[in-house]
Amino acid sequence: MALNQFNINDIRAQFPVLDQQVYGKPLVYFDNAATTQKPLCVIERERDYYLHENCNIHRGVHYLSQMATEAYENARKTVAQFINARQPQEIVFTRGTTESLNLLATSLGQLLVGEGDKVVVSAMEHHSNMVPWQQMLMHSKGQLLVIRMDKNGVLDLNHYEELLKQRPKIVSIAHISNTLGTVNPIKEMISMAHKYDIPVVIDGAQSMAHQVIDVQDLDCDFYVFSGHKMYAPMGIGGLYGKMEWLEKMPPYQFGGEMVDTVSFEKTTFNKVPFKFEAGTPNVGAALGLETAVKFIQSFDRQEVEAYEDELLRYATEQLANIEGMRFIGQAPKRNGLISFVIDGIHPYDLGTIIDKMGVAVRTGHHCAEPVMTFFGIPGTVRASFAMYNTKEEIDIFVKAVDKAANMLK
Ligand code: PMP
Repeated sequence: MALNQFNINDIRAQFPVLDQQVYGKPLVYFDNAATTQKPLCVIERERDYYLHENCNIHRGVHYLSQMATEAYENARKTVAQFINARQPQEIVFTRGTTESLNLLATSLGQLLVGEGDKVVVSAMEHHSNMVPWQQMLMHSKGQLLVIRMDKNGVLDLNHYEELLKQRPKIVSIAHISNTLGTVNPIKEMISMAHKYDIPVVIDGAQSMAHQVIDVQDLDCDFYVFSGHKMYAPMGIGGLYGKMEWLEKMPPYQFGGEMVDTVSFEKTTFNKVPFKFEAGTPNVGAALGLETAVKFIQSFDRQEVEAYEDELLRYATEQLANIEGMRFIGQAPKRNGLISFVIDGIHPYDLGTIIDKMGVAVRTGHHCAEPVMTFFGIPGTVRASFAMYNTKEEIDIFVKAVDKAANMLK
């Protein structure tokens, strides 16, 4: 496949939503960690599906149903190949990271976690990678073990080793923190857990758009993600699982499509991955996800990563000049986002003022309340980047932050 030149103007032209004014100011969209914008090709793919192909899949004998089934299963193949899964069947389509993690907490939990057992997460998890495990453990009277981090937002691997010695049943950690931007050393952490035969779940919500993911190289047991954070539509995401696990795990939801034979006495279940895909899936969004994957693949990934790293470096350097600036998360390896507070200013007030200047950032606890408790702050201002952002936008953003900070002091 011929790669697209990394030309920022061409890229931005594919995202018409960026080309608008809010409050009479050009929009600067820096809330990409919450959701990325969608390129025209993705929007058109989903639209095309509804215009020409819409049909329920897997059970129809007629033409449209067969075409839609084939397209949906091809989307699975594309996603599998994107993350180097061994086979397409190792990809379960879900609504996104949250649903994937709930599936795992329920199903893998049922398979592995008995009374009093333990599960390890890290101190920087999104609520989605903490609450499902916590709730499951409440029922089994088990315990959630939390890997400590330091004040830079770096996980303490010695503490992790100590926790592994307590023989937890599952480890579940974020690849990239959505609050601190820390890139965790997941390959090393997976291998450490495997020495104790403990399976590892990786929350890849923040990494799929930014990094090349190779699940075989990582050797993770599960990798979960959301389409909408990687230029795909909302309502679609996935769960990669090693086939040997998926085959052993019980179904998570019950209903049509996931069954093999049904009688009032007994039900047998369909094969993997259909066993985990009860009911009618979001076919149009799955096709949009496939197109988003192809969109990402149409660029030199290293070039995109280097460009995004440069945006992060530049934003950090520029923001550091603002009086009272305190970065939350200063790990040496960070990706995609920058989180900060300014002395004496509530992040919410800052976010509200810069919004009126056209700059969209996220403020608050970013669904990671324990992280805020750890740093003793109510929240942060978070600016997160995508491949379509520019240094000029960072200049506007930094000026807006400076101006707002002066107004609020
Ligand atoms: N984990 C992480 C690290 C995230 O950043 C997010 C989204 N902010 C989630 C999980 C949840 O993703 P979703 O809302 O798409 O299910």
